[in-house]
Amino acid sequence: MMRNAQGLPLKMVVLGSRDQTCVNAKVNRLRSGELNDKCRDMVAAADHADKFGAAAQSEHSCSYYRKGMGPLTTRIAQQPMDIEDLVADGKAVNDCPYFASRQMLPGADIVFAPYNYLVDVAIRRSMKLDEHVRGSVVIVDEAHNIEGVARDAASFERTVDVLMAASKEFNALAQQGPSEEVCEGSRQVCDVLRGLTTWIDDQADKPARVFRGPEVLALWDGAGVCINDESVQTLVGVRAQMDEAFRLMGNSKKSPLSSALASTVDGLLQTLGFLTAEHGRFARDFRVTVTQEFVVAKRRREAQLNVWCLNPAVAFRTLAGGPHAARSIVLTSGTLSPLPALASELGVEFKHQLELMHVVNVDKQVFARVLPRVGRELLDSSYKNAERGEYVDALGQAVLHIMRGVPGGVLLFASSYASVDRLQARWTATGVWAQMEALKPISVEPKGGGAEFDRAVAEYRRNAATAAGAMFLAVFRGKLSEGIDFVDDMCRAVLVLGLPFPSVKDLKVAEKKQYQDERVRAFAQAPKQQHLAPLSGNEWYVQQAYRALNQAIGRVIRHVHDYGCIVFLDQRFMQRDVVEGLSKWVRGAVRPAGSLGELMDGMEDFFKDRRPAAMAAVAAVAAVAAVAAAPARASEADVATASEGSAAEDDGDSDVVLVEEM
Ligand code: SF4
Repeated sequence: MMRNAQGLPLKMVVLGSRDQTCVNAKVNRLRSGELNDKCRDMVAAADHADKFGAAAQSEHSCSYYRKGMGPLTTRIAQQPMDIEDLVADGKAVNDCPYFASRQMLPGADIVFAPYNYLVDVAIRRSMKLDEHVRGSVVIVDEAHNIEGVARDAASFERTVDVLMAASKEFNALAQQGPSEEVCEGSRQVCDVLRGLTTWIDDQADKPARVFRGPEVLALWDGAGVCINDESVQTLVGVRAQMDEAFRLMGNSKKSPLSSALASTVDGLLQTLGFLTAEHGRFARDFRVTVTQEFVVAKRRREAQLNVWCLNPAVAFRTLAGGPHAARSIVLTSGTLSPLPALASELGVEFKHQLELMHVVNVDKQVFARVLPRVGRELLDSSYKNAERGEYVDALGQAVLHIMRGVPGGVLLFASSYASVDRLQARWTATGVWAQMEALKPISVEPKGGGAEFDRAVAEYRRNAATAAGAMFLAVFRGKLSEGIDFVDDMCRAVLVLGLPFPSVKDLKVAEKKQYQDERVRAFAQAPKQQHLAPLSGNEWYVQQAYRALNQAIGRVIRHVHDYGCIVFLDQRFMQRDVVEGLSKWVRGAVRPAGSLGELMDGMEDFFKDRRPAAMAAVAAVAAVAAVAAAPARASEADVATASEGSAAEDDGDSDVVLVEEM
């Protein structure tokens, strides 16, 4: 256990959402907003029973809830625990992990939390984390997403129906609120919501337009919706007063606002706060538009208000400067590079930057190859080629052969869920899917997270632990490529299908690219500190692709003794400038494979050196599968020779850190 300067044990606490920590089986499968509402009701019922001496627990209260310190808080104080321990211990002692960890927060020396808890001002405030952040050392692990998280923290997207539902709730409160204070506050919030929904309806009937921040503020003003620095701060204060009024009234007058709609309004006010802050200093970093979005639950399209912050520095500066600034911020990840670009995006100067060696011997532990073609078919997953049947068939043959040669798990990354569907459909139709499944059971990454995703991961783990191994068909930027640790046999190969550029059809991506180009032009006219030199739109766009790609290939090595293959199934990786974008640790190890046969021979040698026993098992499994369905192995004569010299010098380095002192 770590100790402080006085030799006393350091107190630590892990924070998580109700989704992650609720142990009440009656409610913990509800969706996030419903769970929050239900929990609040049950806690209010428990407090009420406690206050008025009713039976200690009723069917309306949660039996895990403790108003003060409970048995779990004692355990948290005695030993370090991660979120899984917290939940397991909470179940064991019948105490709620969500509230127990919050009870322990004030005295904690070390706080573990998802990093959006720090970047998102509303969450930070509601969790009372400001006090912890001020003057502290903040370490952001896996910080490669910090730029996107910071942009999202200052942005807002909701359909007009959700805003109208919020408007109705606040209107009802304005009519029949429990106090004059609440009625007046609700009236003010309701006026803004009504004004905005009318404006959205009006826009929905016109050709789509994207407005810049200052332009939309003027338009709203002209439409009678007064949104400026002062009015937004007043509304934020009003909301805080309303919540406090409900809290003081206790259960008998508990807030009739649903938590989903209350947080919608708070999220809107937070974004409007950034948009109007310091008399519109950051307004030019925002774009506002109304789009038509398909709502799955309603099976129809609805108008949606989008207020996009394109500059991550707008939210990040609240962590790096101002009254609640951290003393030091350390960002770490294997995929932060290029470091100057990240510093420029976040708008801070990092005085210390480190790029560390990878812990493994890349030459011995990583087999990285580019396969540019199968037979005469070029492997190229670029937009124009990706749907060609011949290409998908050639890809299927390559994947099938690789599956045969890999002992253990294989992760295959495609650029989108649509490509995954396309591959699965074609391979099923041609019978290749069945041949693949005869070799290794296949799991497919479902859209979104949740229970379905957890089930798919559990299924894959079970199958990958067998002698045959398993394959997971996943997407770049999906949960699997970023947040899941597959060590050893859980992942012996990562297969890369192309470069995962964000969709150019995505309006937000297009706006961000244009915004970056404008920043470059503005910077050229009035150069400031060089560390703030912005990326061009195209540089930013390419960087997004490489961050996602480098995250995915990082799945193959998870500890110092781990080893595995990375196969780039795309001829574009034959080009030196394309390989240059890969993480430093792998860049130098990438070699061209002259043919599928050469790739398989190299892979066989690699695994033989690493694990002879497992290779015997793989051979046995492949032999059994071959009886069921065996396509001919790609002929050497069919396969063109790859060009030489695309591999860079092997320096074995790894991107790691970027630091600090504010
Ligand atoms: S008090 Fe805790 S265990 Fe009970 S419903 Fe709320 S989060 Fe779940």
